[in-house]
This record gives sequence, C-alpha cells and structure tokens, in this order.
Amino acid sequence: MNIVRQKGTKDIFGDDILVWQFAEDKIRRVTKKFNVKEIRTPVFEATELYSRSVGDETDIVNKEMYTFEDRGGRSITLRPELTAGVVRAYIENGFSSLTQPVKLWYQANMYRYEKMQKGRYREFNQFGTEIFGSNSYLADIESIQISYNFLKEIGINEMISLSINSIGCKSCRQNYLKVLKDYLAPHIASMCDTCKARYNKNIMRIIDCKEDSCKKIVEEAPMITDYLCDECREDFENLKNGLDSIKIPYEIDKKIVRGLDYYNKTVYEYTSKDLGLAIGGGGRYDLLVEELDGPSTPAVGFAFGMDRIVLLLKEYGANDKIVNNVDIYFVTMESGGYNAIHEIVSGVRDYGYVVETDISNRSMKAQMKYANNINSRYVCIIGENELSTNTCVIKNMESGNQVEVELSVNKILEIMN
Ligand code: AMP
Repeated sequence: MNIVRQKGTKDIFGDDILVWQFAEDKIRRVTKKFNVKEIRTPVFEATELYSRSVGDETDIVNKEMYTFEDRGGRSITLRPELTAGVVRAYIENGFSSLTQPVKLWYQANMYRYEKMQKGRYREFNQFGTEIFGSNSYLADIESIQISYNFLKEIGINEMISLSINSIGCKSCRQNYLKVLKDYLAPHIASMCDTCKARYNKNIMRIIDCKEDSCKKIVEEAPMITDYLCDECREDFENLKNGLDSIKIPYEIDKKIVRGLDYYNKTVYEYTSKDLGLAIGGGGRYDLLVEELDGPSTPAVGFAFGMDRIVLLLKEYGANDKIVNNVDIYFVTMESGGYNAIHEIVSGVRDYGYVVETDISNRSMKAQMKYANNINSRYVCIIGENELSTNTCVIKNMESGNQVEVELSVNKILEIMN
C-alpha cells in the first residue's frame, strides 16, 4: 500500500496508548478535584476567530494554520489552539449568565503546519483549562495549581520548571512598548528577518527570540516587569506570595512574553529541565472575551502539550510501571467449551478483572501458548475432566504453582486474591 500517514501525524497504539490513558485518567482526576467542567468544541471554526484572537501577526496565524474554503465558500480553519474556541463557546452559549467563575477544561487535537522536530507535530494534543469571571490573582494561582497538580499526579513535577512573568495590562504595556521601540530602533539591522518584521507588528516577541543575534540585543533591553503599573505590580507580588505559600516552586523569567496576542498580566511556562522542551504554558487574557464581542470578562488559562507529556513519561520510565496485564485466561475445550464456561467468564469480568478466553477455536495447547504470550497472570483450565467434576485448575503463570478448586466465580476470585 502506498498510502501513508501525513507528515507530522502519528498512529498511537500498543504500550504508548497505556501511557496516554494513564495521563488522561489523571486529567479527569485533577479537574474533578478542582470542580472544572469538561467542554468539547468543534475541530474547525471560522478562520476569523483565530485571526481576531490569536493575532494576525503571530506565527500561528501567519504561517501555520490549516485553512481552507469549504464547499459553501466559507473560510474554515482547523483549530491551532483551543482558548479561542472556548471563548467563542462561552460567548455563544451565554455562559456569562451562569454563576461565575466558570471553569472549563478540554483535551483535544490541534493542527499547526509546523517544521518537524522532536516533540513537534502537525497534529498534536493539548490538555487545557480556562477560568472565566475572576480578575483576582487567586484565579491565576488556581490555574497554576491545577496545572502543577497534574504534573504531580503523573509524577514528573520535579523534572519540570515553572517560569512566571507579568507582561502588564494594556495601559502599562503601552508605555513599555514605546521604550522598547526606542531601545531596539538602532539594532534593527542586526536582527533576524523574523524580528525585523516583528518590530512593527509584534515587537514583544523579539524578547523571546531564540536567534543568537537577537538574544544578544535583548540582553540589555528594558523589561516589561520594570514598567508595570501599581495594580499589575501588586497582582504579581500577590501571585508570587501565593505560590510560595502553597509551595509551588517557580522562577521569574522576564523574557517570557508568550507567542499569542491575547495575554496580559500573568504569563507562565513549564519547561522540561532535562530536555529543555516547552511542555505547556498559560496566562491571563482579560480582554479576549470582549474583543470577540462578548461581555467584558476577565479570564486565565493554560495548555499542556500532551504529546510532550507522554514523551517525558516514557523518558522517565513511567511506561514500565503502567502495565495492562490480563488477569486471567480461561482455557477451554475445543468444541462446546465456551458454552460450558461463559457464565463463569462473565462473572469474573463483572468484578472488573481483565479476562480473556478462546474465540478462535484453538487447541488447549495453543490456548496455553496464547495465554503465555499475552502475559496473563493466571490461567484457568477447564477440560472435560474438570467439567464432569465441576472443578477447574488455576495456574499462577509467574510462580508456576497450580491448584484445583471448585468451578465457581467465588473460588476463582479467592485464588486470584
Ligand atoms: P502554545 O499553544 O503554543 O502555547 O503551546 C502550548 C504547548 O503545546 C506547548 O508548550 C507544547 O507543549 C505544545 N505544542 C505546541 N505546538 C506543538 C506542536 N506543533 N507539536 C507538539 N506539541 C506542541
């Protein structure tokens, strides 16, 4: 077959699926603890949603979106991120009339036409949370707490560093941008081409450019944290004190500006200490709901890249601990065997055990081989003799020990426990 996967996509199967499911279970557990409700939104939205929220001048909108015209002549885009979609849903479904704050989480695939490298795909998965309706720094803390708690639950919080910054509100940022513009003006010629374009369109992004030439220029540049208004400065102090008191370790990184246009005040990023890979990030976006024609609503949120979370879990050997063994395999006679034992098989399954039995009409010998191949913990053999005496032989596949017991669900469970 010469039809193959599209570049930047992947099939997820085998042991990897177990790691994904492990992480997904933790998403459900953590969001439940914080009473965050799930939301599912469409894979595609009107292109305008992203150009108006993420920002026309961002890399995402400029060069990474999967945009096409549908048969009805509409411009459609596969979601490159989900904050914009959740905000659209918040407005469209009238969530502002609900008791605030409204706390929502999602986990879904995103689409960006990106250059391929480790941990960077064109179809990738994000878990995120958005909190609407609170302008208090306490909501920022809760947002960070949820995300940190997730890392703790999956056991990799110590391998990840949290960096925070404040990029100020609209008013303090305006003053800062003037100062930044003046400082950068004499250096334009030495900047990378992307930053040359950013100078007039998205100047803050120059601060976190990874090109050496730009990094050097930025070393001496004025930083937004030194230009915060009183309210923003106070919020940032409260945030830091709050994180200290709940013992979430963080560092301040004045260079974090986030790539998307809609952020203000608190921004934060999680990075893998060993791999230097961005794992997730978030921040406050108090003006976005209004900019998309909704009622003025402060909001804060984060998103983790789940593909990278899974990559890290595998890197740290978490997948060795996540096993999905079959608990017991029932070996039956070739003909009519299943009919004789199906009640027992179903009975053990009803207790939540992972149970398999023959569905291929194989010989008893071949069934034993199969049970061995799938690493079944126990095997229960019910041949002609056993059936006639209403007994079965249960074999512990690890120790090799075997016992003969009465053929009943209770007896089988007793041995397995
Ligand atoms: P962003 O929405 O760009 O702030 O990204 C949030 C997180 O999503 C990042 O920290 C990454 O972990 C993940 N992410 C972003 N883009 C990709 C991609 N192309 N492939 C895999 N993960 C990604």
